Amino acid sequence: MEPLIACKDVSLGYENREVASGINLEVYPGDYLCIVGENGSGKSTLIKGLAGLIRPLRGQITVAPALREESIGYLPQQTAAQKDFPATVSEVVISGCLKRRGFLPFYSADEKRLARKNMKKLGIDSMARRCFRELSGGQKQRVLLARALCATEKLLILDEPTTGLDPTAVTEMYQLIQKLNREDHVAVIMVSHDIMNALSQAKTVLHLKQQPLFYGTVQDYRKSETGRGFLGGEDYLGTN
Ligand code: ADP
Repeated sequence: MEPLIACKDVSLGYENREVASGINLEVYPGDYLCIVGENGSGKSTLIKGLAGLIRPLRGQITVAPALREESIGYLPQQTAAQKDFPATVSEVVISGCLKRRGFLPFYSADEKRLARKNMKKLGIDSMARRCFRELSGGQKQRVLLARALCATEKLLILDEPTTGLDPTAVTEMYQLIQKLNREDHVAVIMVSHDIMNALSQAKTVLHLKQQPLFYGTVQDYRKSETGRGFLGGEDYLGTN
């Protein structure tokens, strides 16, 4: 089986300043990779590289041909601008088809069907005509997840998908991501601060501190010195 996305000796950064290097990873259909590490350790930068938003300074990121034809379903960290996007829920969801459709002026019937299917899957079909900016934080994230699924149903790249959500919305968001991964075999690559929730779902972990400190299964991570150190810190902070 071919990986959906693979990194070989990849370095990423800005204006030739490396902020993450020595990255080697492979993500296959149905995988669930969680990227963890302290603030400033290069997680978002790696995610942007994987989503094709920045080019590696060195090394190679390979994307499976099946994914290249589509765009990657990328859910960025929320910005104020996104939160206030003046559009309806269905407009935001279907805009995920933009790259897939090229520059044709109208959405096709297939794209409209896909948008409806993904809204239903994420339980937001009843909100289709509502204004995006009037939704709660959790509802907005579900809309953006449905949008990402319109780009591809093979791989979701999520950067801190639960930041700013209330505890119920956090639980719902994790349940949805898990359902997409387990039932629909959508591969997931996620950066999360919510380490306990993330690790209870993920299959593999990449712990980044400019360079990978650990890359392997969640079970092995929990036993590793890096994992014990990081998770012990979380316990101490009382965030689990
Ligand atoms: P993390 O997601 O782990 O918190 P980031 O990938 O956001 O880490 O940041 C890693 C480093 O890259 C930090 O030192 C940060 O200041 C720097 N950085 C992030 N984004 C940019 C940018 N657009 N331009 C220049 N430097 C950046």
